[in-house]
Amino acid sequence: MERIPHLIAGEEMSGSTRTSPVFNPATGEVSREVGLASAAETDRAIAAAAAAFPKWRATSLTKRADVFFRLRHLLKERSADLAAIVTNEHGKVLSDAAGEIARGLENVEFAAGLMQLLKGEYSEQVSTGVDVHSVKQPVGVVGCITPFNFPVMVPLWMVASAIACGNTVVLKPSEKDPSASVFLAKLFLEAGLPAGVFNVVHGDKEAVDAILDSPTVRAVSFVGSTPIAQAIYNRASANGKRVQALGGAKNHMVVLPDADLPGAADAAVSAAYGSAGERCMAVSVLVAVGGIGDELVAAIKDRMGKLVIGDGTDARSEMGPLITREQRDRVASYVEGAAAEGGTVVVDGRDEAFDNDGFFIGVSLIDDVKTTSKVYTDEIFGPVLAVVRVDTYDEAVALVNSNSFGNGVAIFTRDGGAARQFEFEIEAGMVGVNVPIPVPVGAYSFGGWKNSLFGDSHVYGPESVHFYTRSKVITSRWPDPSTSQVDLGFPSNS
Ligand code: NAD
Repeated sequence: MERIPHLIAGEEMSGSTRTSPVFNPATGEVSREVGLASAAETDRAIAAAAAAFPKWRATSLTKRADVFFRLRHLLKERSADLAAIVTNEHGKVLSDAAGEIARGLENVEFAAGLMQLLKGEYSEQVSTGVDVHSVKQPVGVVGCITPFNFPVMVPLWMVASAIACGNTVVLKPSEKDPSASVFLAKLFLEAGLPAGVFNVVHGDKEAVDAILDSPTVRAVSFVGSTPIAQAIYNRASANGKRVQALGGAKNHMVVLPDADLPGAADAAVSAAYGSAGERCMAVSVLVAVGGIGDELVAAIKDRMGKLVIGDGTDARSEMGPLITREQRDRVASYVEGAAAEGGTVVVDGRDEAFDNDGFFIGVSLIDDVKTTSKVYTDEIFGPVLAVVRVDTYDEAVALVNSNSFGNGVAIFTRDGGAARQFEFEIEAGMVGVNVPIPVPVGAYSFGGWKNSLFGDSHVYGPESVHFYTRSKVITSRWPDPSTSQVDLGFPSNS
């Protein structure tokens, strides 16, 4: 059985005694195995990052930027190979895999502008003969822990900025689809990044705890589910580290009666079922305002019937399987329980038959969902769209704002005033206006509110520069040159 290696100090290593199977979700077969690092192995990766830090932080900004320009080229050149790896272990269709690489590239492009990003400030003559300037210095070794659902994009959210800022990194990717991060780390090496600056260790709680407890690791970036995000935040911050821990979501799409309904139905289908609903920005609740519920539900149902579900490597497939058999069964259990909790099952994804052992399930639509039901309260992370009907805009806003998550939200309307009011009062970190999945471009930062983020910094973009650097402020006074012992040609004060 092929073993996916760790990458420590530029070398592949596969010594771990514990292992975990890696599946091809489209066939249900085990394709590889991955070693689960012990605390000692994880410490080796941390030590490699610490050893590489002094030289990397002293490397000129021009040379650092060069790595990102080369990496951008390599990522584009190898995008198809990387997408194939993602589809093989995650299951998403190849076009989705290529899409996540393209979005991750934005973070590489942002990092290439590090010369501009790392500029400090200067104030002349704050007092007579006294100037003040500030610089941004790296924090040291950064631990990055990432989820299964974007095995290229989410690591790039973190490592691109962390490395550009002069830090060194230990990445612990999801053990469910670990190959992409090794591929990525090797591309960084090929782009000229010195060995040890970007290390990858695979593993589970044991490796993560070793990162959280290591006094050498100064900052932790985490993306994953809310309970784990909260636990990571608590443990790492108790250990004195700066932490950003992004959690789960329950994203609402509010459709006002004046919206372009066919356009809203198209958007709902792609945002709810794309990537099998395994996106932290997936729309999982559609809020139909006023009397449009029947028309909207019918339009969505009509489009669902045309969705092609199959192996992600088949160009005809628009949606692939779920990540694991257990997750497929968990999603099915929500659909099964929906009617008993008062919802109307308009389309039952369990009815669609698949002729192999892949982790497939069809798409589901549940209307009239009660906000007390599990379909509404839980993050399902699968292809299930819940519809809640309300009478007014105010009810829609109250619904969204009372939800415990606050990642993304969208409004569909033709009314600019209504959209502006929504932007003003809605409690979520990312808002779309006639855009169902408002993932910010790389020049902005990504993050939610409430239970979708623990910590105060969003990932990538300007907030990542703040998170991955410490500022140092220097106050300086130089002797008046006219008092110099050496005659410099200044008129004397005396
Ligand atoms: P997860 O929380 O199960 O795992 C995330 C990471 O934490 C993995 O590397 C995993 O190995 C590790 N981990 C799991 N259990 C752990 C434990 N007990 N102790 C320490 N580490 C542990 O998440 P997942 O299933 O891989 O990903 C899906 C979740 O991620 C969803 O909830 C989704 O909303 C969320 N997500 C959020 C964002 C965001 O930006 N807010 C983006 C992508 C995914």
